Amino acid sequence: NHVLASESTLRRRSVSGKVPLVVKRKSLRIVVTGGAGFVGSHLVDRLIGRGDSVVVVDNFFTGRKENLMHHFGDPRFELIRHDVVEPLLLEVDQIYHLACPASPVHYKFNPVKTIKTNVVGTLNMLGLAKRVGARFLLTSTSEVYGDPLQHPQVETYWGNVNPIGVRSCYDEGKRTAETLTMDYHRGHGIEVRIARIFNTYGPRMCIDDGRVVSNFVAQALRKEPLTVYGDGKQTRSFQYVSDLVEGLMRLMEGDHVGPFNLGNPGEFTMLELAEVVQETIDPNAKIEFRPNTEDDPHKRKPDISKAKQLLGWEPTVSLRKGLPLMVSDFRQRIFGDHKAGGA
Ligand code: NAD
Ligand code: UDP
Ligand code: UDP
Repeated sequence: NHVLASESTLRRRSVSGKVPLVVKRKSLRIVVTGGAGFVGSHLVDRLIGRGDSVVVVDNFFTGRKENLMHHFGDPRFELIRHDVVEPLLLEVDQIYHLACPASPVHYKFNPVKTIKTNVVGTLNMLGLAKRVGARFLLTSTSEVYGDPLQHPQVETYWGNVNPIGVRSCYDEGKRTAETLTMDYHRGHGIEVRIARIFNTYGPRMCIDDGRVVSNFVAQALRKEPLTVYGDGKQTRSFQYVSDLVEGLMRLMEGDHVGPFNLGNPGEFTMLELAEVVQETIDPNAKIEFRPNTEDDPHKRKPDISKAKQLLGWEPTVSLRKGLPLMVSDFRQRIFGDHKAGGA
């Protein structure tokens, strides 16, 4: 109903498989909240690339204009400085709702603001979806499983979350965002999609955001010791950003509400991750142990059977393949080395 007049074309094979057939579809107008951030900016690249119009809504708390500057001047691209905690009126077909700091260092910086972003921000974007009849996708998180007692985590697991801990602003915030999303779906008939994203890395991550992959890569490049928290035996599963973006788009375009785990099932201890970083950047990089943070989940690994079956999706980029792509972007940003390949 809110589609734009312009059209994009998708090349498809005809039924016989011989004659290339040009299938035209209406170009969509899509909002990406948090689109100036790490994941959002890669998503925007794909949406613009396939011919749609994108409105990015971002307050630049952790996002950067540099992530989107290559779209400035494109009539199909718009960037609005706006905080999703405040209401917003737009006419759109789809809403990818990503706005929320993702790194523990950032989301603990102002916990009350993090909760408001997750609860009031999500409420506003659902209100917008309801008013204009747009499809709404929430980027939730593996943190909804807390310190999981089930391994690997399946979508039917309800989690083990501390409601009063230092991470609660984020994980309880996202759990409430999921609840709101389902209540707008059941109560108002809004078309919704829920993705539970597991640890993701790649070019354009904030260099000093405190997440483990960005920390290790920046430390190895700067010839500083890699800081392993605790005994380093806790595990995470690391997904390359292009795999995630493909999963988010399949989820939005598909027929299933979810929730869907989107992550790479390859599981690594933090010490194993440090070894991969050493192999990739500097075999002589030292390791330094530091006390761990409070409420740190001991292990995390997605069961992605549901996404495989219903979205036909699975990750294709292993940690050893994806890490060098991120390293060249970090090298360029840290040293201004223009010979290195960028994002
Ligand atoms: P990011 O911090 O790079 O991006 C978040 C973006 O949201 C930033 O551009 C920030 O400025 C913007 N933002 C924050 N609060 C806002 C507000 N109140 N109003 C408007 N904009 C606001 O993080 P990311 O890694 O790109 O994460 C994107 C989404 O994916 C988040 O919702 C996050 O919770 C989710 N997620 C990410 C991961 C991961 O490993 N990267 C894992 C699980 C879930
Ligand atoms: N909202 C918004 N943009 C819109 C429509 C609604 O930001 O286009 C906000 C609105 O201000 C409200 C929230 O979304 O705070 C929920 O809207 P809804 O209509 O569902 O609830 P109500 O306004 O009836 O409380
Ligand atoms: N971690 C680490 N060294 C660092 C940063 C983090 O060993 O410099 C550990 C952290 O304790 C956690 C894991 O790496 O066990 C993942 O942390 P991150 O903040 O990247 O993401 P989380 O999955 O906890 O949200």
